[in-house]
Amino acid sequence: MTTVPEWSEKPYNRLTQRVMVVDDDPITATMLASSLKKEGYEVETYKDGESALKRLFEPNSPRLVLLDWVMPGMDGLEVVKVLRQKEVKPPHYVIMLTSKRDMTDIINALETGADDFIPKPFDPGELRARLNVGKRMISLNVDLLTQTEKANMLADYLASYDTTTGLPNRAYMKEKIQSCINERIPFILMLVNIDRFRRINQALGVERGDQLLKWFGKRLEEVFKEDNAAVGRVYADEFAVLVMNAHDPEVIHQEAERVKEAAKELPSDLAGYPFTLSIGVVYYSGKEADITSEDIANRVDIAVKKAKAKGGNHIEIHDEETEKEIQERFLIARELAQAIESNSLTCFLQPKVDRERRIRGAEALCRWIHPERGFISPGVFIPVAEETNLIPELDYWILRQVCQVLAKIDNPQISLSSNLSPRTFHNTDIVNMVKSILAETGANPERLILEVTEALVIEDVEEGITTMKELNSIGIRFSIDDFGTGYSSLKYLQRLPISEIKIDRGFLLDIPDNRSNMALVEAIIGIAQAMNLKIVAEGIETEEQARLLDEKADVLHQCFLFGKPMPIEEFLKLL
Ligand code: C2E
Ligand code: MG
Ligand code: MG
Repeated sequence: MTTVPEWSEKPYNRLTQRVMVVDDDPITATMLASSLKKEGYEVETYKDGESALKRLFEPNSPRLVLLDWVMPGMDGLEVVKVLRQKEVKPPHYVIMLTSKRDMTDIINALETGADDFIPKPFDPGELRARLNVGKRMISLNVDLLTQTEKANMLADYLASYDTTTGLPNRAYMKEKIQSCINERIPFILMLVNIDRFRRINQALGVERGDQLLKWFGKRLEEVFKEDNAAVGRVYADEFAVLVMNAHDPEVIHQEAERVKEAAKELPSDLAGYPFTLSIGVVYYSGKEADITSEDIANRVDIAVKKAKAKGGNHIEIHDEETEKEIQERFLIARELAQAIESNSLTCFLQPKVDRERRIRGAEALCRWIHPERGFISPGVFIPVAEETNLIPELDYWILRQVCQVLAKIDNPQISLSSNLSPRTFHNTDIVNMVKSILAETGANPERLILEVTEALVIEDVEEGITTMKELNSIGIRFSIDDFGTGYSSLKYLQRLPISEIKIDRGFLLDIPDNRSNMALVEAIIGIAQAMNLKIVAEGIETEEQARLLDEKADVLHQCFLFGKPMPIEEFLKLL
């Protein structure tokens, strides 16, 4: 075969690894497809001339075409005729499938623009040989392209494929899903997210992280090779598997298990990390009509998020219940935006007390009292606010309240804390925002504590450290919230300018009877003391437990036992 310049190898391969089969007869189409798959080709099948032609004009259409001559509606000859009038580059290599043997017919077809013939019924050996001729022709045509045309071809390739793995990208997969919906082809779509990939990537380094992605993409392709399926990489650490012609929804679970199978037996040089997957699955029965690939993408996205929320390494199948949740969240998001706008959120303060049970400060907690639905828990609306980007506004609104109160409390012993979501931290000009709120309210930064989570640190270590140091330099302190539930390593923690950690309520449950919790709490206290950090215990339930902690260290308590979250006025009175 002619050598193809290095740069065009990938796009070239993509164009010639796939064959378009256009035949109205399902039996011939199926036989052709199975024969082609054995040869290692990917196959796209079309039932009529019209839909084939639409595809042929797309820059990424396969360049090898097996075209049935006699079809109802637009026949093969008409397809070739229209195609050649506006042919894309490099041109398609069209092999006509026909039982016609008459020389005048054949000459006519060649003059119209067909490249070759295969008589029906076809012989697999002949099919292979004639496709090889086609491949040679295409590669010659690629060589003849001008620089600009080559650049265009590469650009077309890049628009549809991911360069790291060589797999179809998000745009391509979306198109495929949409075309399934248009043709009412039932499918199973699986979104596969690698658990903790960011962390694996940081540990392995970018290059080996890429290798890992390549390996996994290949494995997925291998596992679904025999099926009518497409595998793509749709996001940094997210792959999609689209299994088409899935008429039986019963197999959903089996298919998801096959994805898990693909993750097994990591090559030894990449091993050392638990490689687990969160899988979201959505089924399309081929019956719903007024639905788009966007809707499908949303559903499967929610499913993956649910799988993640269960701690990862989970399979979550989209169902009616999830659909209701989506609607619900949508509603909440809209109303939340209005609530922020109309100032109808409320800031509560929950006291933090020391071993003498004196108030040493409070944490600000957002409350939403909805005119019709009543009290909505932050556990519900904060995640929605995070997903819809309303969170910075909410965080800054609370921060402003906190600073206003702080300016009123004339007691240097009292500090107030405000929560900051990672989104607020990374996506806004937080340093200047905080400075301007401080200036506006006259609050003393040395009595302000910002609570951040471990997730914030993981997201972008260097940026995180720089920003925190900048705020720290004007006196603001940082606290790590829900300590132990994330996965920050001590290595990072040591580099952060933090002065407090909050032990998550989950670790304090049933101490000291719960031995593993007790051991963890002791370890956390040990770390905090070694790093000279204040400790806040969240949600202790009994007096005995509180005393137990008091014996071990200088702990502040924040729990219902010593003070529920309350309106600002009430807190001021309590002081
Ligand atoms: P968090 O920052 O860890 O806040 C502590 C949560 O523990 C609060 O829940 C508080 O009411 C609860 N808590 C305190 N003592 C006890 C106890 O003894 N028993 C029990 N069962 N719970 C206790 P809340 O107010 O529902 O807030 C939940 C989470 O919502 C907060 O967790 C925080 O992550 C988030 N959140 C609340 N307000 C804001 C905000 O203004 N901005 C941001 N970004 N997040 C917020
Ligand atoms: Mg907090
Ligand atoms: Mg907390």
